[in-house]
Amino acid sequence: MSRFWSEAVRGLSPYVPGEQPRHPRLVKLNTNESPYGPSPGVLEALAAIDGDSLRRYPDPDAVALRGCIAAQFGLAAEQVFVGNGSDEVLAHAFLGLLKHPRPLAFPEISYSFYPVWCGLYGIEAVRVPLDDALAIDVDAFPTDCGGIILPNPNAPTGRLLELAGIERLVADHADCVVVVDEAYIDFGGRSAAALVGRYPNLLVVQTLSKSRALAGLRVGFALGDPALIEGLVRVKDCFNSYPLDVIAQRAAIAAFEDRAWFEDSCRRVIATRERVTAALEALGFSVLPSAANFVFARPPAGAAAPLFAALREEGIIVRYFDRPRINEYLRISIGTEEEMDRLLAAVEAWCTAAGAAAG
Ligand SMILES: *Cc1c(COP(=O)(O)O)cnc(C)c1O
Repeated sequence: MSRFWSEAVRGLSPYVPGEQPRHPRLVKLNTNESPYGPSPGVLEALAAIDGDSLRRYPDPDAVALRGCIAAQFGLAAEQVFVGNGSDEVLAHAFLGLLKHPRPLAFPEISYSFYPVWCGLYGIEAVRVPLDDALAIDVDAFPTDCGGIILPNPNAPTGRLLELAGIERLVADHADCVVVVDEAYIDFGGRSAAALVGRYPNLLVVQTLSKSRALAGLRVGFALGDPALIEGLVRVKDCFNSYPLDVIAQRAAIAAFEDRAWFEDSCRRVIATRERVTAALEALGFSVLPSAANFVFARPPAGAAAPLFAALREEGIIVRYFDRPRINEYLRISIGTEEEMDRLLAAVEAWCTAAGAAAG
């Protein structure tokens, strides 16, 4: 606290990102980064950046990148917005499309940045309960909300809502904007991008941070009706006209151009996820069905907090949320086969020790 802080800053409760610790043999499974890295084409695009292109301002409208994304999804460039990570795209959506006199609805358990933006922009929130299996219930959303936002697959549960469920939600709330945050959709779901042309109230947000292995580049985008996109552009141009630098724009295009690399790395992550799920279940965990690049797993006796601490001692970092309904679970990102073998060995040793202590 400082006497120099504005009233607005004094009242903020900022988002706390997953830690980026240093450890010689660290196995980092806490922020859902890709274990495989971006396409070699991305590195070539980076190497080709010259001084002259850095001397100038980047294209404020990112025309080439937006055209590339539009082509990927069979949309027009006017239906695409790009930002500095999907966090920035989402922040602009909160201010530009979701702040209304009626409250914003989102699942009680979802991305923990949503309440932070509500605090920043003074948006009233309603938390929509998940069902007994921690799945999103489309019918539980209030009919009279001012906007809806949900991650699909949900975070941190990994549970997927089928496209038909998303479509029903969007159709049933035609008077407000529904934002579908698809950070993990490439790991097992079908994107609501296919519905964008039919629903003027649907905004689909994706990121290059997870399935395209570019969390360090900071590129996210939104797909929606041109009127929604224009709303986002208005906010952007009141905040930062150049959210994506020259490097990010070129490297992102290269990432989209290598479809084979992208599909192959998603396939590998999915295969590892299925193997890890089976191995954890064999150790007595209950694991929620995941369509993401992580699993949400409850250790035997719900001993998530002690297991989190024990793994940390071994240099294996996962994520633990000390919150009602999910404080007996760990969120474990899917790493390489070798990283997951180290995790499973540590988990098995802990289970054996815990079983011996209990027995
Ligand atoms: C990782 C994540 C994001 C943010 O991604 P960036 O593009 O890196 O800002 C947004 N939403 C959810 C649900 C995420 O898990």
